[in-house]
Amino acid sequence: MTAAKPTPRIDTSKPHPARVYDYLLGGKDNYPVDEEVGEQLPPEARDAARQNREFMHRAVAWLAGSGLDQFLDIGTGIPTAPNLHQIVQKVRPTSRVVYTDNDPIVLRHAEALLVSHPEGMTDYVQADVRAPGEILDHARKLLDFDRPIALSLIALMHFIPGEQEPYDIVATLLEALPSGSYLVLSHASSDIYPELAEQVTAEYAKGGIELGFRTRDGVGRFFAGLDLVEPGLVTATEWYRGTDAPPAEAGGIYAGVARLP
Ligand code: SAH
Repeated sequence: MTAAKPTPRIDTSKPHPARVYDYLLGGKDNYPVDEEVGEQLPPEARDAARQNREFMHRAVAWLAGSGLDQFLDIGTGIPTAPNLHQIVQKVRPTSRVVYTDNDPIVLRHAEALLVSHPEGMTDYVQADVRAPGEILDHARKLLDFDRPIALSLIALMHFIPGEQEPYDIVATLLEALPSGSYLVLSHASSDIYPELAEQVTAEYAKGGIELGFRTRDGVGRFFAGLDLVEPGLVTATEWYRGTDAPPAEAGGIYAGVARLP
């Protein structure tokens, strides 16, 4: 971490996305306000969180196996083992991973993200994806932007509602990356289970968290101009699982991995 040890201010009077997600994954780093939101969500929300996390595991392992050794992960979440660096450094110990999240609770637990394999490096910076320039400036000090980088925005962009701004943010991030880099993105859908999506959006809104779930086309737009790898933009459970895997469980999260031409 580069900043002088700041003391994160944790606001326990209102729910926060990272803590609700931690609750859904069965974690302990959440507060009664977060649990209150989580309890009101349909049971499918826990399945979605688990399925999303499992997609992250498979996708980043695949990337490390494909030769990627630099990772910029935005919207990292509260550490939940295995974290991204543990997965990729198992395949490629020299991997360098820059984590970022805007929630002070993630900073408070960042030590778990900073225990890198000695041959590699991990870093954590508190930042908002809405300020992509700031994140890039920081990442440039730690990653080599002349070599491919995997940018992961996993279950993040549905916290950024809007018709244009979210796409501009992702475009700004991608423009900074060289050819051969990858985008890994997962995103809650509004059109697979529309009623559940509405219910979840309404419950988060009660806690003051604005969500922007998107249709398949809306999520596909984040990948514009990139080459989606097989099996394309699918649900998180359907994303590449090897040929002898059992049929994928149903789920409402879209996921894809794409290469920058
Ligand atoms: N990527 C992890 C965690 C997903 S939960 C995983 O898939 O397992 C979504 C995370 O995005 C939370 O930790 C939340 O704090 C973070 N987040 C939400 N809005 C953000 C923003 N504007 N900038 C940065 N991070 C944000």
